[in-house]
Amino acid sequence: MIVGVDIDNVIADTEKEVRRVLENDRGVSLVREDFRHYAIENMPELSKDDLEYVLDRFRDGSIFLNVTVIVGARETLERLMQKHKVILVTSRPPSVEAYTRKWLEKNCVPFHELHFTPESKVNGIPYDLFIEDQDNFACEIAESGSYVLLYDAPWNQHVSHDSMERVFSWDDIRKFCFPPCAIGHSETK
Ligand SMILES: [Mg+2]
Repeated sequence: MIVGVDIDNVIADTEKEVRRVLENDRGVSLVREDFRHYAIENMPELSKDDLEYVLDRFRDGSIFLNVTVIVGARETLERLMQKHKVILVTSRPPSVEAYTRKWLEKNCVPFHELHFTPESKVNGIPYDLFIEDQDNFACEIAESGSYVLLYDAPWNQHVSHDSMERVFSWDDIRKFCFPPCAIGHSETK
């Protein structure tokens, strides 16, 4: 099977790093629940100057270097790779590819392929499963016929689809991919 996995806020705890940078560098204190929209441009809590400061860190790629890996991601990706093709798919601009590869290597995040596709996550690839948090991409992927595990976040509470299941942690993803008891998947006698 082909498994697509988003990077930001699925493998990388990017939102937490944005909050850390804002607190450390700008004295702005936010909580996760303040991120009600994926685009931080829509956050009324951020002044124009604070917003520009963070966007500059995204543009030059520096914000990606100190992001932490979300608990359990590495281990489950390793396990998935033993049986499936794992493609990391990010909407980050190709200009930050070097930062991204460096971060993946430094944090020992395993993968078979890495794709930079800012406009579309599907991009003609028949993913069997895709793990995503961003509302528009999650819907695009589900509409394309792939099954989506929607990584829960304040900015995707409005999203649902028949081909989608909400997960709250990598523990949930691991249990979905490797159910501890197969009875739910076996045919009745
Ligand atoms: Mg994401």
